[in-house]
Amino acid sequence: MTASSAGRDKAGGGPAEPAWVPASGDRRRHPAPAHLRFFHGPMDCGKSTLALQMDHNQSRQGREGMLLTQGDRSAAPMISSRIGMQRPAREFSAGTDVRLLVRERWAAGHRVDYLIVDEAQFLTDAQVDQLAELVDESHVDVYAFGLTTDFRARLFPGTRRLLELADDVERIQVEVLCWCGLPGLLNARVVDGAMVREGETVVVADTAPPPPPGSAGSGGEPAVRYQVLCRGHYVRGQLGPLATAPGQLALP
Ligand SMILES: [Zn+2]
Repeated sequence: MTASSAGRDKAGGGPAEPAWVPASGDRRRHPAPAHLRFFHGPMDCGKSTLALQMDHNQSRQGREGMLLTQGDRSAAPMISSRIGMQRPAREFSAGTDVRLLVRERWAAGHRVDYLIVDEAQFLTDAQVDQLAELVDESHVDVYAFGLTTDFRARLFPGTRRLLELADDVERIQVEVLCWCGLPGLLNARVVDGAMVREGETVVVADTAPPPPPGSAGSGGEPAVRYQVLCRGHYVRGQLGPLATAPGQLALP
């Protein structure tokens, strides 16, 4: 007997569905194991856009979610993408127990089927462990989105822990390019037109050249800016022909 002949026969004589194909709605009768999925990439790779798309797809299936973000300084925290989409999100800090945020939602009578966590690179080890516990003990799907490396080309702490614990890790298909046309992989910090590899978390600088087209920049002239480079140009510290730093190599 073949697998397909084991399927349910229909009166209409249509092809029987194989028994091993889950019917829609099966998830509710037999809760599938939840997963911790981590999506990472360089700045401007579209991770917030992907986070909002994931939320949209999930909520369209009737699932209820919670959006978390960090470092959003606005009074009404948002996950916002550079192409203009935004959704209200719950702001959390390094001291937040993520499990308590979920329990608060439960206590208010809501389901929490999934979590969307943006800026996941800023998570502490403990918070990533809490997310894993929510997945395993409470069957909450977690979708975390974060930067891979900091301006020193080192993994962010939250990123490292997610790489250690996540069920699935996906490098976001890079849509941001280095000035040379190769995929951008690494985030360079540029102060006064020069790339820096060490420094404080927050660097104060008064002047900086205008960012070249396609680089990060949020209105006004940032004193410190970030530029995504391919690995070769990151290693060599070359910011491209539009950068105005003294001694900057021009395109051959
Ligand atoms: Zn390059």
